[in-house]
Amino acid sequence: LNRRLTEFGTTIFAEMSALAARTGSINLGQGFPDTDGPEEIREAAVRALREGKGNQYPPGPGVPELRTAIAEHQQRFHGLVYDPDAEVLVTAGATEAIAAALLALVEPGDEVIALEPYYDSYAACVAMAGGTRVPVTLRPHGGAYGLDLDELRAAVTPRTRLILLNTPHNPTGTVLTREELAAVAALACERDLLVVTDEVYEHLVFEGEHLPLASFPGMRERTVTISSAGKTFSFTGWKVGWITASPELVTAVRSAKQYLTYVSAGPLQYAVADALRLPDTYFDALRADLRTKRDLLSDGLAAAGFGVYRPAGTYFVTTDIRPLGGGDDGFAFCRALPGRCGVVAIPNAVFYDHREEGAPFVRFAFCKRVEVLADAVARLGALT
Ligand code: PMP
Ligand code: GLN
Repeated sequence: LNRRLTEFGTTIFAEMSALAARTGSINLGQGFPDTDGPEEIREAAVRALREGKGNQYPPGPGVPELRTAIAEHQQRFHGLVYDPDAEVLVTAGATEAIAAALLALVEPGDEVIALEPYYDSYAACVAMAGGTRVPVTLRPHGGAYGLDLDELRAAVTPRTRLILLNTPHNPTGTVLTREELAAVAALACERDLLVVTDEVYEHLVFEGEHLPLASFPGMRERTVTISSAGKTFSFTGWKVGWITASPELVTAVRSAKQYLTYVSAGPLQYAVADALRLPDTYFDALRADLRTKRDLLSDGLAAAGFGVYRPAGTYFVTTDIRPLGGGDDGFAFCRALPGRCGVVAIPNAVFYDHREEGAPFVRFAFCKRVEVLADAVARLGALT
C-alpha cells in the first residue's frame, strides 16, 4: 500500500458491521436502512433490466432520463436551474462523486478544508488526490454542533484550493444555518475558492431547512453539489449518485470519473429517474418516519444516561458517553458495547484528525424499524 493510503486501513463501517454480524448485535453503526425503498421503484429497476434499458454501457454522463430528472429535482426542491446535458453528471454513489471531484480539482500540495468530524472517505480522497487536509472543527455547544466562522476564515491560506462541505452533517446531525452558509459563500468568493458540497441528506431534515450552498450569491459557478439515491430513497446498495455544477466543473469531474468507473450501472439509473419524480407525499412521509425514529432513539439514549445531541438532520444521533460515568473513550466503549448489551455504534473519533476532540462521542443510526430501535433502547437502558 502506498504512503498516501497507509494511515487509512479498513473503513470503520466495514469493521463495525462485521463486529455486529459476529456478535449477533443490533447494528446501529453503519448507516443503512433495514427496510428497502419504494416497491414501485424496485419494479422500475426490474422493468429496465427486462426491457434491456441500460444493460450495456450507458452514456458516460448518465442516461438522459436520469440527468433530466436530477435537473428537475434541483429546480423543484431548491429553485436551482441546471442544464441536464452540460451541468449534471451521474456517479457511482456520492462516494465516487467525492473522489472524482477531488481528483479532478485538487493539485498535489493544495489544501482542502473540511469540517471535522468528517465522513471517512473525505480524508482518504484528499490524500489520493495528493492534497493536504485542513480540518475545521465543529464544536458542541447548547445541545448542537456549530461552525466557528473565525476558525474557518483563519484556515484559508494561499494554498487553499477548496472547501469540502457537508450539510446536513454526518455524524453530528447539524444542518448548517443560512448565516453559516452565507459566511462560507462570502469567504469562497472573497478568496476565490471552489466548494464541493456533500448534500446527500438534503431530504432528511427535521428542524430548520436544508439550503443548498449553490443557491447563495456567487456560488453557482464555484460549487460542485453532490447527492445520492442511497439516503433519499433507501437504496444504499444501488450506488447511484450525481453532481450538479457549472459546465466547466462537470467537465473536469467527468474527466476523472471516466477513468474511475467509466460509467455507472445502467438499469438502476432509469429507476432512480422515476424515484426523483415521486410526489411530495413520498418525501414528507420519509421525513416524518425518520423524525419519529429520531425521537424514539434520542429519548431512549437520554433515559439510558447518554448526553444526546438530538440531530436537526441525517439519520444519525451523536451522544456523549461521559455522563454514563464509564470514562471518555468512545473507541473502548464501542468495542465493549456488543458484549455488554448487544448493540453496535460508531466512535466519532474516527471522523477527526484531532482525535481527542471526538473521543467521548459515539454515533447511533436510527434508520431502522421501530421494533429494532425499541429493542436497542431496552438493551441500552439495561447498561450497567
Ligand atoms: N457522504 C456522506 C456524508 C455519507 O454519509 C455517505 C453515506 N455513507 C456518502 C457520502 C456516500 O454515499 P453513497 O452511498 O451514495 O456513495
Ligand atoms: N454513510 C454511511 C455511514 O456514515 C455508511 C457508508 C459506508 O459504509 N461507507 O454510516
